[in-house]
Amino acid sequence: MEVAKRHESQYARSLIEASLDPLVTINPEGKITDMNEALANITGVSREHLTGTDFFDYFTEPQKAREVYQEVFAMGSVADSPLTLRHCNGKLTDVLFNGSVYKDDKGSVLGVVIVARDVTAQKRSETELIEAKVFAELATQIAEEAKSKAECATRIAEDAVKAKQQFLSNMSHEIRTPMNAIIGFTKVVLKTELTTKQKEYLSAIKISGDALIVLINDILDLAKVDAGKMTFMQTPFKMSVSISAMLHLFETKIQEKNLELITKYDRQIPEVLVGDPVRLHQIVLNLVSNAVKFTNQGTITVSVDLLKQDEETATIQFSVKDTGIGIADNKIEKIFENFQQASSGTSRLYGGTGLGLAIVKQLVEPQGGTIRVESKIDEGTTFSFVLNFLKTKAEAELDAGALELDTEIPNIKILVVEDIRLNQLLMKTLLDDFGFGCELAANGKIAIEKLKNDSFDVILMDLQMPEMNGFEATEYIRNKLKLEIPIIALTADVTTVDLAKCKAVGMSDYIAKPVDEKLLYSKIVGSVKKSLLVKPKEIPPEVTEQIKYTNLTYLNTRTKSNPTLMLEMISLYLEQTPPLITAMKKTFAEKNWNSLQSAVHKLIPSFSIVGIHKDFESMAKKVHDYAGAQLQSAEISDMVHKLEKVCVQACHELKAELLIIKNKNS
Ligand code: ADP
Repeated sequence: MEVAKRHESQYARSLIEASLDPLVTINPEGKITDMNEALANITGVSREHLTGTDFFDYFTEPQKAREVYQEVFAMGSVADSPLTLRHCNGKLTDVLFNGSVYKDDKGSVLGVVIVARDVTAQKRSETELIEAKVFAELATQIAEEAKSKAECATRIAEDAVKAKQQFLSNMSHEIRTPMNAIIGFTKVVLKTELTTKQKEYLSAIKISGDALIVLINDILDLAKVDAGKMTFMQTPFKMSVSISAMLHLFETKIQEKNLELITKYDRQIPEVLVGDPVRLHQIVLNLVSNAVKFTNQGTITVSVDLLKQDEETATIQFSVKDTGIGIADNKIEKIFENFQQASSGTSRLYGGTGLGLAIVKQLVEPQGGTIRVESKIDEGTTFSFVLNFLKTKAEAELDAGALELDTEIPNIKILVVEDIRLNQLLMKTLLDDFGFGCELAANGKIAIEKLKNDSFDVILMDLQMPEMNGFEATEYIRNKLKLEIPIIALTADVTTVDLAKCKAVGMSDYIAKPVDEKLLYSKIVGSVKKSLLVKPKEIPPEVTEQIKYTNLTYLNTRTKSNPTLMLEMISLYLEQTPPLITAMKKTFAEKNWNSLQSAVHKLIPSFSIVGIHKDFESMAKKVHDYAGAQLQSAEISDMVHKLEKVCVQACHELKAELLIIKNKNS
């Protein structure tokens, strides 16, 4: 029995010793009575030294330890009370203090048994967890701050872009308005009698002015690219006409530099394509202008080739090849970047800003195109780009570039709505030169008053004006006055000019200041023709057979009713007119536009002589102009037919008159 008891006690001892957590018994005085090896290890004090010592002294907070211990006595047990044990070398161990009283057989309390569970590792991971949480929260906070900073920065950047746009737009207006006057009046003065020196000086002013405008346009284009505002039209246009009109611009410069321009145009390219002729013009213009600038001898070859086509699209390659100075290999990558020139001396020698090609790239790539360059120093450079165009059965819009400056369009009356006196004067001078009539209105309100009392063929409308601006005036003209008259916006502000807005209020077209004389002329003539095309209702109503087409009042007054003279005039008419009618019919059928124009030209003066109504004279003039512009349309056929009828009828009437006069005087 004794042996069994001893075995039991040994077994219990070994279990206690096996525990990695310190186990200790304490008497009611707080002195250690027994312990396991783990306590000796955790405190660094040998078992002999531990026995009989104050258990609380081994804690970092002895008082707290004492309270817990007292609590065990009071409550019978305590669980998981956190405390820290100190090793004699200073090392700390976090423990969870679990204690319960133990009693003798009679139930009297002998002491407490305590298990101090080592929770250092657990605590560490807990701390790490808390730290991680704190860090995570901190990181979230930082991220949120960064996000709001980024949002703020984006806002600032957007505001800055807007401010830049606004600034450029204002500057553009501020610069263009006076430049308009400078360039415009220089051109006017250049047309007057001048000495060679004066001409030279004025030409220099004009060249500088033109260069400044090119520069402003480049900078504004770049601003548009930056702001993602570059827009592309989709208009039907005649590619060949567009290219050749553009190349005309270089004729003088090419001759001056003694260069040769070779144009190779692939005739397989569909006549009318849909795309943005203005941007195409701008791209080719930049490339050809560089080719001319950087070539001192030899040739410039502009080729336009159809690469492929299907039912809907045509892929076209444009290339501009020169025999100029070439570009060094290590510079070729850079030239498409903003403000980059191949060599530092370029600006001094050739001028320019290094913006042209950057813009060209921005015009080609957003349209889905590609641009390449090949160059050899001192041998030459070839720039080529490929663009896709949609094919169409529609007719091309009247192309400004295709119209000749000397097209005879008489009696055009224009209302110029412009507030700046200098610009009014300039516009009047230009229109006088074109032989057009012109009335001025200083703002939209005055323009509307004038339109109520008078009729005009075209309105040139400034946008920014006091009282009533160009947009408001146009809206009024379209919606209240219900006039379909062509309105061309005159704008100094090409950055923000909202072409969509111009279109939305009903403007027909726009032209940027400083106004290019030739472009202005073409736009006016083009829009008059266009309005005639879309308004066949302006053609006088068919006059019934009973009504006489001729009226001899004019002849009577001119000849003072002298019968011989009357007879002579009428006979002359009867002699000349039938062959002209035949010629008109025949040349129209053959689309022989030059001969048609010449036949109608000869016919026109006779109308007023024999008193044919003015409306038919206007009709003949329209046919004359259509023929001049080589325009094929249903209206022209209609008009030729009507004129034939009127003239044949007039001949019948005059033959009868002739008889009457002859009879009277026989
Ligand atoms: P800019 O002509 O105003 O300097 P561009 O962007 O049009 O600016 O051209 C950038 C540079 O590329 C030019 O300065 C020039 O060094 C080079 N470059 C462009 N075209 C040619 C060319 N046809 N021949 C030689 N160098 C050229």
